[in-house]
Amino acid sequence: LNLIHQPKAQLIGLTRFFKPDDIDWTTDIDADPLKIIEFAGRACYQSFHNPAGRTNAEYIENMLDHGHLSVIEHAVASFYITGISRSLTHELVRHRHFSFSQTSQRYVSESDANFIEPDVIASAPEMHDIFQRTVEQAQQAYNDLYTVLQKKHEYVEDKTLRRKMSRQAARSVMPNAIETRMVLSGNFRAFRHFFRMRATEHADVEIRALAIQLLKILQREAYAVFGDYEIHALPDGTEVAASRFSYD
Ligand SMILES: Cc1cc2nc3c(=O)[nH]c(=O)nc-3n(C[C@H](O)[C@H](O)[C@H](O)COP(=O)(O)OP(=O)(O)OC[C@H]3O[C@@H](n4cnc5c(N)ncnc54)[C@H](O)[C@@H]3O)c2cc1C
Repeated sequence: LNLIHQPKAQLIGLTRFFKPDDIDWTTDIDADPLKIIEFAGRACYQSFHNPAGRTNAEYIENMLDHGHLSVIEHAVASFYITGISRSLTHELVRHRHFSFSQTSQRYVSESDANFIEPDVIASAPEMHDIFQRTVEQAQQAYNDLYTVLQKKHEYVEDKTLRRKMSRQAARSVMPNAIETRMVLSGNFRAFRHFFRMRATEHADVEIRALAIQLLKILQREAYAVFGDYEIHALPDGTEVAASRFSYD
């Protein structure tokens, strides 16, 4: 039985920018997501000659400050996220501006699935034992049900369909803690809103840990858009983040 304690997010996609041939414009950074945002802002006012002499970071900060946020929707990032529970993804998919592709429990067998153990449960042997016993029993029940269901569905000739029919029923005994994996894409505005909602102390610790991981990656890739989010450690060692700007 494999128990997981940390989500793993890997950046797999990021916006590229191609300057139109007929526009004479340069800026002081190389990062494509930041370029497309400044370009979109300047397109609104056709101010490609930068009369105020602003840096890209100053330009974006001004837009964040004024809530001119549709421009940051032009930059998009995609992540491959593993080591997360179905309870986390149930909360994550509530964020309607993200796009998701999640492992199918009907197509992929869960017979040797991993489980996400909350740190607070792992911290005490008696809780850890209850957790481990329970997920082992659930996995055993899944495997036993699958065997019986496959017999019941013997009349189905298509083997893939037969396995799906068995897995879709057997999965009902699996707990929230079961691991799932997904590709998540979203524009920078959707990510900023996600951090405001899920990087706070009020959010569940697992989705908060994921939010902080995504924030750190996006700060590395696009500091001008995410650098205002300050990360602090709480007394329990977990992290939270908050922005000084009022809009998202
Ligand atoms: C601490 C915490 C506790 C929670 N507890 C519960 C709970 O007990 N039960 C529960 O069901 N949910 C709960 N939620 C989920 C919460 O209600 C939201 O569904 C979730 O956080 C998604 O955020 P959002 O509503 O801002 O929408 P997102 O989908 O992230 O959209 C971002 C923004 O776009 C706008 N928007 C998107 N769709 C619409 C629309 N259809 N109409 C108008 N404006 C729209 C809104 O301004 C919205 O804030 C909780 C969330 C948190 C952070």
